[in-house]
Amino acid sequence: MAHSTPRVGFISLGCPKALVDSERILTQLRAEGYALSPSYAGADLVVINTCGFIDEAVEESLDAIGEALRENGRVIVTGCLGARAEQVRTAHPEVLAVTGPHAYEEVMAAVHAALPPPHDPFASLVPPQGIRLTPRHYAYLKISEGCSHRCTFCIIPSLRGDLVSRPVGEVMQEARNLVDAGVRELLVVAQDTSAYGVDVRYRPGFWEGRPMRTRLHDLAKALGELPAWVRLMYCYPYPHVDEVIPLMVEGHILPYLDMPLQHGSPRVLQAMRRPAATERVLDRIRRWREACPDLVLRSTFIVGFPGETEEEFEALLDFLREARLDRVGAFAYSPVEGAEANRLPDPVPGAVKQERLARFMEVQEEISAAKLRDKIGQRMVVLVDDVGEDRLLARGPGDAPEIDGRVIVDGAWEIDPGDFIEVEIIGAEAHDLHAAPTEAITE
Ligand code: SF4
Repeated sequence: MAHSTPRVGFISLGCPKALVDSERILTQLRAEGYALSPSYAGADLVVINTCGFIDEAVEESLDAIGEALRENGRVIVTGCLGARAEQVRTAHPEVLAVTGPHAYEEVMAAVHAALPPPHDPFASLVPPQGIRLTPRHYAYLKISEGCSHRCTFCIIPSLRGDLVSRPVGEVMQEARNLVDAGVRELLVVAQDTSAYGVDVRYRPGFWEGRPMRTRLHDLAKALGELPAWVRLMYCYPYPHVDEVIPLMVEGHILPYLDMPLQHGSPRVLQAMRRPAATERVLDRIRRWREACPDLVLRSTFIVGFPGETEEEFEALLDFLREARLDRVGAFAYSPVEGAEANRLPDPVPGAVKQERLARFMEVQEEISAAKLRDKIGQRMVVLVDDVGEDRLLARGPGDAPEIDGRVIVDGAWEIDPGDFIEVEIIGAEAHDLHAAPTEAITE
């Protein structure tokens, strides 16, 4: 049934980077006068932004497309899985259109063809900060698209292309709009945040009349002048990441670094086509911590990569024990269709992968828990995420939303999400901290 104002349903799957793409499409839809529908029944068509990173994500995306077809019948597919149009069309031949990741214009063209925009769109309906899917007080700020690395387990470069950095002035304007709209934490994301500007040779740009290089250090410093937390996600272990540590020491950005390291054995890292000098990485971590004792390090690892021997896995565990990272995610290697690593010899049997993953988690859980226990007695400023009847949920500088732990403050408090309060840490669990406010925050 067509409505007087055309209505689009939107489903966003996948990682924070895909979420940013969704926000852009939603912003464009609203700019053109489309209404958004929260239900299948109320929508004239449904756009699904898919993820195709690992096989489970492909399944989830195909299931979501199937459900939308059953419930609504008119579906446009975009995003990472859209880069594999054949696979989508084979599973669901009735979809209206399939477009690839960050193909905003193509998605919009497909929407226009299936559901023409209203004649008189009120562009002013769109707030300058765009439409966002994250809670009002934090937002993801995407600084580049694509990736110029060729890690053998990853197909993102073939889906999203080589690195393309956004102009620094444009990124700063978006950040300013977000902060003006109430955002208190900016999460800087990209496939590889630290590569920002490499593609344009750190070209100079402008922000508020000031020259600024297209470089992570300069961007982070300028972002740090806005009244919001700035958190760096997805940094590749480049040497120049060292440059941002002084910005953490000086309080410009949060003392938090998310740096996927993937393994601790030089041979496995070489097979992954990643930087393999693990000793040097450990040395850098040591130096960073000396300079910035509050630094919280998050990383992700893959266990059971093809050819990984027991000895190499042990080297990974030794690396973990030595690095003592604060937050760690781990995955058993899963062959992604099209990834070069699938052709490597000696795949690790599934049961061995699972057994190694369990051993890995056991070692790391102890480290993470000990690091959280060390925080007991410390005072810290936390950002309130959610206020319940008998407790509030907040996050400290070391906790990224959705992936890290939380700071739980028991009691009923007169406070709003997005407020900052100072607390004292009084307890620690495996992932979360318990805290009490240092000053009364009720009347
Ligand atoms: S750096 Fe990340 S996005 Fe780029 S190829 Fe490697 S895993 Fe993929």
